[in-house]
Order: sequence, then C-alpha cells, then structure tokens
Amino acid sequence: MELKKIARDVWAELEEIGDLAALEKFRVKYLGKKGAITSLLRSMGNMAKEERPIFGKAVNDLSKQVEERILLREAELKEKARLFQLKKETLDVTLPGRKAILGHRHPIKQVMEEIETIFLNMGYTIAEGFEVEDDYHNFEALNIPKDHPSRDMQDTFWIDTDVLIRTHTSSVQSRVMEKQNPPVRIIAPGRVYRCDDDVTHSPMFHQVEGLVIDQGITFGDLKWTLTIFLKTLFGEEREVRFRPSYFPFTEPSCEVDVSCFACGGVGCRLCKHTGWIEILGSGLVHPNVLRNVGYNPMEVSGFAFGLGIERIAMLRYGIDDIRLFFESDMRFLRQF
Ligand SMILES: [Zn+2]
Repeated sequence: MELKKIARDVWAELEEIGDLAALEKFRVKYLGKKGAITSLLRSMGNMAKEERPIFGKAVNDLSKQVEERILLREAELKEKARLFQLKKETLDVTLPGRKAILGHRHPIKQVMEEIETIFLNMGYTIAEGFEVEDDYHNFEALNIPKDHPSRDMQDTFWIDTDVLIRTHTSSVQSRVMEKQNPPVRIIAPGRVYRCDDDVTHSPMFHQVEGLVIDQGITFGDLKWTLTIFLKTLFGEEREVRFRPSYFPFTEPSCEVDVSCFACGGVGCRLCKHTGWIEILGSGLVHPNVLRNVGYNPMEVSGFAFGLGIERIAMLRYGIDDIRLFFESDMRFLRQF
C-alpha cells in the first residue's frame, strides 16, 4: 500500500521541481538514508518470507527509476540555468561606448622632443650623462677651476666636497669626449639643479646641450647650425642675432637671440620692448676643454651650445610662472 502511494506521489512531485536546490531536497526526501523509499526496504523485516523478494524487487525498481529521472531532471535544470545566464549576460552592442581618458605628454617633454627631432634630423645622436656628478666633470674639465669666479654664477647643490647634482648638461661634454674620438655630434637633454627658486627659476629644470667636434669646425658652422635650428623651432620668418658673451668653456662665446615672436620685433611686454628674445648660449669649444679630454686643439675644433627648455616653453605658451610646470595641476596641463 505504502509503495503504491509513494510511486504515485513521486512523479507528480518531481514535475513541479523548478531548481537544483529543490531537486536535491527531493532526492534526500526519497532516496536519502532516511528517505521514504529507503525506509520501505527496512520495513521488509515485518513481512512474510515469501513476500519479501517480490516487494524488494518492486522497491529497487522504483528506486532505480527515480534515480534515473533525477539525473535527467538535473541535466534539464542545468541547461535552463545556463540559458538564463547567457541571456542575462548578453551585450547590447548598440550602446554608445565609454570614452577613455587619454593622457598626453607634459609641455616640457613636448618642447624637448621637438628640439631632439630637429637635431636628430641633422645627424646628431642623443647622449646621456649623470645627474649626480663629480666636481671634475661639472666644473674643472670645462675650464672652471676651484677658484674660478664663474662658480658663483651657478648656485650648486653639493652632496659632499667633491660630489654634486649637475648644474648644467655641459657636464655631458667631457663624459662623451673621454670615450669617443672626433668627429662628435651630440645633443644631451636632461635635468639640471640649481639652488634658486622664484617665478622664473626652479631648483630643478631642463637643458639641452649640444656639441660638435671635428676637423676644421669654425664659427661659421656654429652660426649656420643654430640659425637653422632656431628658424625650424620658431618659424622661418624669425631673425637670428649673435651677441658676444662670456662662458669659461667656450672662446669666443656668444648669446643668441631671435626676433620676438609675439610682436615680430616691434617691441612688446614679452621682449621687454627690445624686439629680441634671448634663447641660448654658445661658442667655440675652449682649447683647454679639448686638452682635458686628450684632444689636440691644433687638429680639431668645435662648438657647443646650451639652452633651457622651461624658458622656451614659457615664451612659446605665454607662461609667466615656471612653477606651474611642476605643480601637476590638471587645469594647467590639459591646455597643452
Ligand atoms: Zn615683442
């Protein structure tokens, strides 16, 4: 009687199961250790001996059938869950995409790369030196001995009596020449440090140094090279002017101006009403500098130049405070 009732209920109940958790509950209810079907086998003890095999076989058949149906149902439910998951995760490819925020190069880096490109196109290579330098390469090799008054022109950060962080990229000159025989044709961009801090001076700023050494290099090569460079950087219509100046490591030395790109030379606030803007320092390499690296000044000659990147960027973009470059203020940086 019990068996017939169970056999009737079990199929109806199975049909109504909607998920895997309910199916597991169902399995325990009928086929578990204390399940309804399992319990039937235990009740056989009370039966007449001859009834037992028939009853036992009927219970086992039912048990087997239920188990098979559970497996089938389980497969159905898993498939159903999978389809549901797929539907839920469908991508709507017609939705507009989210725009990625692209960063861009810092204005200082932009100007630096522009200068590098001009010289790379002229056949120069890029050289690197050390930011932590010794006194010899930053000063003495460049014809600036210990008691030289021009050391006062550069407020140096000293690490100890002989070690400093470089005050100019000119320190790369001797490093390159010590390792390489002429011809030399390099530019050396990089960070330099001076003990100075106001609207036009930063304790850290960037310079580009240039150096050319070969047989028969004259002031004419210097003039031609820097004129081409400045006209490429500031525009073909710019006038270029060379003024006599003094640096310990060049002789003769000059400063180089371009006609003001704000007023075209008439005079304005940017050029302090002179019509000219000072851009770089330059000169023919001093014979002492050549001797210090073992070159013979009677055989080779050359010119060197250096300019500050921040100054170029400030002039070009009309920025009047150098500190803006290093404050990482996105309102400022996004403008470039
Ligand atoms: Zn002007």
